[in-house]
Parts: sequence; structure tokens; C-alpha cells
Amino acid sequence: MSTVTGPERADRFEELVPYPDHSAQLEALVGQSAGAPNLSPHAVNAPMIRHWVEAMGDENPVYVSDEAAREAGYDRLIAPPTMLQAWIMRGLRSTLAVEEARAAGGEQGSGPNELMMSLLDDEGLTSVVATNCDQHYDRPLVLGDRLLVRSVIESISDPKRTGLGTGRFITTRMDYVAVPDADVPERGSASTAEVQALFDAGEPVATQRFRILKYLPPDRTPPRPSRPRPAITQDNAFWFEGAQAHALLIQRCASCGTLRHPPLPACGRCGSLEWDTVEASGRGTLYSYVVVHYPQVAAFEYPLPIGLVELEEGTRVVANLGVEPGSVAIGMALQAEFVDFDDALSLPVFVPAGAPEPGRGA
Ligand SMILES: [Zn+2]
Repeated sequence: MSTVTGPERADRFEELVPYPDHSAQLEALVGQSAGAPNLSPHAVNAPMIRHWVEAMGDENPVYVSDEAAREAGYDRLIAPPTMLQAWIMRGLRSTLAVEEARAAGGEQGSGPNELMMSLLDDEGLTSVVATNCDQHYDRPLVLGDRLLVRSVIESISDPKRTGLGTGRFITTRMDYVAVPDADVPERGSASTAEVQALFDAGEPVATQRFRILKYLPPDRTPPRPSRPRPAITQDNAFWFEGAQAHALLIQRCASCGTLRHPPLPACGRCGSLEWDTVEASGRGTLYSYVVVHYPQVAAFEYPLPIGLVELEEGTRVVANLGVEPGSVAIGMALQAEFVDFDDALSLPVFVPAGAPEPGRGA
């Protein structure tokens, strides 16, 4: 949360998220433990490992044969590294009991994690999706290890636009440690202080980083602003009216027949003020182009390819290109398609000749 600060940051938040900005409170939660450490209900044991490798189809013998484990340099069976989370899971019925207690108001709002989630919800970021899970292993888990895990809120990003919607990325780091099973009090009898003490005495075995995106649901994401309005004059109104009717009109001198674009009051060749229009076929070739990356205006999608198109009637027009930015090439054959940007604005967008649909630019 450190790249943008001050008023500029606040402006950007407002632009992206139309709800209260809790950045300062969220930033204060970074580095905090999400709650007390959790103690695994069972020590690392051979039956659970056998169930796991059977379900996963993992045939590595170091997980099931003492001899294979010894040959691989371990003095006991080891557990598959990816079982990490499985050791900590409390089981379906216990999980349901905890959820019921939460629903009854027991634990809700108590820890930094609950506070973070409620702040994010209040910002309107109510949808959630898991995006990454990275695991780093310090040493293999061996029979008799008893695992403990502590979650820390590692980072909360500024709001970012994503394909799913505008949201914040939240990374939670889980620090796994192991203690000998013999050091752990009888099942269910360890107090919070004892669990904390076990965690502090534990040997680091793994770190997991879990990232989620909390984002604005699609129907609450601010719509893209409409395109800037063209400056309509008595000289060019016909052109925009033609575009609304999906006709590409070109001004023609009524005296000498010369075509001209953009529209002007008088003929550059003979000076006549009399003119009419012809409807162009829309076929042409790319004379020149730019692909705009910056500055970005919210109404447009970037990168934005804009072409100077030489029409087969013999004049040139500037228009958006419905061509992938990397595929734009001078001389390419193009065809006009009309895109209705909103009720009041339709414009030609040139796509590769023969393309069935307008591509970008909509
Ligand atoms: Zn003329």
C-alpha cells in the first residue's frame, strides 16, 4: 500500500471504488496475526498419509515404506509436502460448530482477520476469489511431528482494476512449525497460552502464502464513462449523422467533384461553397497509424490503435482500428464497421477486410 500517497491516492480510490476508503485502517492491520496459532488435531501419522497418497495417486515409496524412506536419506517415513494444510484441518463437524458459534455472534469481529474482511466489505469489495497459493518447505514433515500454524496478514494492495472487477489483493502468510507430539498436552486440553508457547518453541517447517482478490461485484463496478462528444458544426454534422445511420459519408464539391475529409466549408481546389456527399464503400487500406498507451482516458480501452485509412474513393479518414495492436500493419486491407458507443454516438471502426465482426474499440 505504499506506491501512491496523499490526495492523489484518494482521488484514485474514488475513481476506482465508489464506497468509503478504509485504506488507513487496513494498512494498520498489515503485519498482525489473524488470530491465535492453531494446533493440528493429530500428529503426522502413517494411516493419514496412506489415505492421502491413495486418493492422490502418488506412488512415491518414501511416503509408505520405511525402507524407501531410509534409502532416500530420512530416518522415518515422511509426509507428502502438499499435505501441509490437511494436518491442520479440524474436520467437518468441528468446522460446522465453529461456524455456528460465529453466526451466533461468538467470535465475529474479534480478530484482525474479521476486522479486515468487514472493512473490505464496507468498501463494497464483497466478492472474493482465491488467486495464488505458494508453499515454501523448510524440511519434510516426519512421523510424530505435531504441526502448529499462525496466520499473518502480510499485505493488502491498493485497489486495482482486474478482469473480474476492481479489488484489492490480500496476501495471508501462514507460518507452520512442528513440535514433538510428546510435548503436546492431551487432545483438546491445551489452553490458548499453552498453544502459543508450543508455537514459539516450534521448529519452522513451511511457509504458505495465500492470496485472494476481494472485489466489487460486476453490477457495482462503475460503468466505463461514455466517449467524449465530438464538436458538431454545420459543416461536419452530416458526417456524424451519417455514422449514426451506419453510412460513411464523404463531402464532395458540387462544382468540381473533388472529395474532401475532414469536412470543410469550401473546396480547396476550386473554392466553391456548394457541396453534397457520397457514401463510401468503407473499403480502404491503412496509410498510417498510432497505438496510444498514455495518457489514458477512462472512456477508452488501451492500448488504443488509431488509423489513418485511405479509402478506395480516394480520401483519408482517421478512425479507431478494430485490429489487435500487435497485428496493425501499414498497407493492410480494411473495412469499416459501425459501432454504437451509446444512444447518441456511432462511429466507424476499421477492421481487417473480411473480418466478420468489429473487434476492439467497442
Ligand atoms: Zn471544387
